[in-house]
Amino acid sequence: MIEPDLSENSIRILEARYLKKDPDGNLIETPKDMFLRVANNIAEANAIYDEPVDKTAEEFYEMMAKLEFLPNSPTLMNADNDLQQLSACFVLPVEDSMDGIFDAIKNSALIHKSGGGTGFSFSRIRPKNDIVKTTGGVASGPISFMRIFDEATNTVKQGGKRRGANMGVMRVDHPDIRDFITSKEDEDQLNNFNISVAITEDFMEAYQNNEKYELINPRTGKITGLEDASEIFNLIVEMAHKNGEPGIIFLDKINEENPTPEIGEIESTNPCGEQPLLPFEACNLGSINLSKMTEGPIGEAEINYDKLAETVKKAVHFLDNVIDMSEFPLDKITEMVQGNRKIGLGVMGYSDMLLKLGLAYNSQEAVETAENIMGFINKKAREASHKLAKRRGPFPNFEKSIYEKEYRNATTTTIAPTGSISIIAGTSSGIEPLFALAYERHVIDETLVELHPIFAQIAEERGIMNDELKEKLASQSSIQKIDEIPDDLKEIFVTSHDITPEWHIKTQAAFQKYVDNAVSKTINFKNNASKNDVKEAYELAYKLDCKGITIYRDGSRSGQVLTTKSSD
Ligand code: UDP
Repeated sequence: MIEPDLSENSIRILEARYLKKDPDGNLIETPKDMFLRVANNIAEANAIYDEPVDKTAEEFYEMMAKLEFLPNSPTLMNADNDLQQLSACFVLPVEDSMDGIFDAIKNSALIHKSGGGTGFSFSRIRPKNDIVKTTGGVASGPISFMRIFDEATNTVKQGGKRRGANMGVMRVDHPDIRDFITSKEDEDQLNNFNISVAITEDFMEAYQNNEKYELINPRTGKITGLEDASEIFNLIVEMAHKNGEPGIIFLDKINEENPTPEIGEIESTNPCGEQPLLPFEACNLGSINLSKMTEGPIGEAEINYDKLAETVKKAVHFLDNVIDMSEFPLDKITEMVQGNRKIGLGVMGYSDMLLKLGLAYNSQEAVETAENIMGFINKKAREASHKLAKRRGPFPNFEKSIYEKEYRNATTTTIAPTGSISIIAGTSSGIEPLFALAYERHVIDETLVELHPIFAQIAEERGIMNDELKEKLASQSSIQKIDEIPDDLKEIFVTSHDITPEWHIKTQAAFQKYVDNAVSKTINFKNNASKNDVKEAYELAYKLDCKGITIYRDGSRSGQVLTTKSSD
């Protein structure tokens, strides 16, 4: 049985948050034990279908121990423990009543405790100053309720393993939309929320024709007034330029691809935006490490499509089993999840893979490679889901779905952020470019410079590595102005600061083209980017059929997570 080959960072994060501990906090499993625990637990689902368990458990173990595929964190943390809650993504409905609102708060607390993130649409809550019949008073409006969700999240803190995360969505035609758009202008507000405005096609039409659009009270269904579409669009852009919030999601586009419209309408996504879901639906994710799917020397490697095909097949089997092994805090969620059986297979290590192939992130070849590779994964994932359907039956809501061909899962693909699992796998996160080629790490009283492993190898081979270069690399997030680095390396080793928003968006769109669900991606801007740059990016994302867009202008939030001189 192969031993997992893990970096120091990976071991550190596993020990802190994933490996089992006894009541005194002593570790009682190794990373290898963890992969075995997860593999054995997830393979058990085979027994439901009279399929052999042991061989599958071995396959699942190998795929994880080789860091070729990892499931989302809740699966790694909770498989075969008391919780057995294995999904990262949930969407809960928020009804326009006290009961409904506080039910949603309670349910989200239970989900956060188990390591899942929750998304909500606040569009159904009546606007502020509207009538409350039972009391004769006036309504306080959706934003005031969001603050209670936020406070509840603060208090739960997900059992110490994972920070509570929420997505708050509001339709652009809600009468309180201006308050919503500016609700995070003050950086201290709603810190446990990402917020997104749900943009409709009617709105986009009004915006493109420079017209007004209608605001509708969700309680009465009546028009309460008109707003100027450009003004609202500009307000969104202004706030996003200021500190990255709100993002936008193209809700009608998302619903055009809703695989089960008869079961319900999609109104929100999970916290990081990659997973649109029906109310009460959950989804488990998993990601293939693309940097392990190449063969040949660095800079001239090629994609190993046979290996990729095999990995996709096993990963779909794994993720389908996860559904059977998951336990949810609410029966209603179990019912929805088992009805649609959505899974979200995606990728991590995309930019590391490009380095191995010798392609610059900001190049047409890279974008074409992204399309080819995701097109291939999507096709193979559907094939695997179809084969499972033949063996295990299609997802129960299949007859009510948009599909003619039988599948086991209503969706198969999603691009997750892979914030933690990419560290475990020791690769670049999701489809994001590298942030820097070196980081400073403070260990007791020493400062170590950690180099990106692929760059370190090339720099050694070329004989350009020395302490002075290391220092330079650690102090700047781009290598473009470092004289001793040869031009051909500068071309390939681009970091997110060297990449224009257009290339970020083109990359997102290339993946989105072959992803059933959505794509987690941050469109990075330089600090001096203008509001108009942000506006153009939003328009481009719409034009290129992205399902949403999240931007971040460097330095625009004081609590910026990633800086070049990062330490922990
Ligand atoms: N998530 C969460 N809390 C966190 C990180 C993630 O609830 O602290 C949820 C959220 O729904 C997010 C999803 O997990 O969209 C996937 O995030 P990511 O891929 O970064 O998770 P990983 O599996 O790497 O931990």
